Amino acid sequence: MKIVFANSAWVSAAERLILRGGSWKSVRLRVRYGLILHPVAGPVLVDTGYTPEAVTRPGRGTMLRLYGALLRPELNAAEQVLPVLARFDLAPGDIRVVIVTHFHADHISGLSLFPNARFIASDAAWARLKARTAWQNLRHGVFTELFPADFERRLDGLSSKQQVAPHDGVPGGADLFGDGSVVAVDLPGHADGQFGLLFPDRKRPLLYAVDVQWLLSALKEERTPGFPASLLAEDFAAIEPTSVMLRRFLAAGGEVMFCHDPAPTQYDLGGEGG
Ligand SMILES: [Zn+2]
Repeated sequence: MKIVFANSAWVSAAERLILRGGSWKSVRLRVRYGLILHPVAGPVLVDTGYTPEAVTRPGRGTMLRLYGALLRPELNAAEQVLPVLARFDLAPGDIRVVIVTHFHADHISGLSLFPNARFIASDAAWARLKARTAWQNLRHGVFTELFPADFERRLDGLSSKQQVAPHDGVPGGADLFGDGSVVAVDLPGHADGQFGLLFPDRKRPLLYAVDVQWLLSALKEERTPGFPASLLAEDFAAIEPTSVMLRRFLAAGGEVMFCHDPAPTQYDLGGEGG
């Protein structure tokens, strides 16, 4: 099973906003998304990264434009999701599954590009989202205009999946394809319903831990940023226990990857690949 990550965009942030005790110098963060070539499920996307739908499309809502003006993501044309799929001889219609780790704009921006895809996501978080007003959702960092109109019909909720038990420092979770190759692991703290993906069969088991932290060094050196980053967290108090679980996984020999860490990994396009 091949696993590749690509960088949809760059976003700059002062280091001290994302690393406790960091400097004012600006760090250029990646905005990753993944592509899994699964032997049975076929090509599966892990989020979509930023695409023009969230960042440059003229008809965007006022709040989405404001969000873009504040964060100023720079789209990375060469590694946008459609050209990356083309490198693998894949068209948008070939994508039957998009795993949606959480509902922030840099993860759901391109969902509308995949008309044949089912969406594996937290159905519990989706139910909570539907119960909120548009303004309440904005406070959770969710721009509902980015969801395809038929998202719910195409939702394949995590709650229907078989659970895998944790063992020896390796977390448990929902077995997404029924073969134990991709396990959704709950990662409370950053966003409502956020989960990561455990690939237990790699030589070194990999846990894609999405947005638990921005930087791997914040995890390893226990430097979770406080205020004002804490304002952006869904449940700030949950970030520490989630980080402890990730450090235990690292200590047990696992590999942790984040969406935004700038350092290239072996799974990034152009790396040695998996
Ligand atoms: Zn996020």
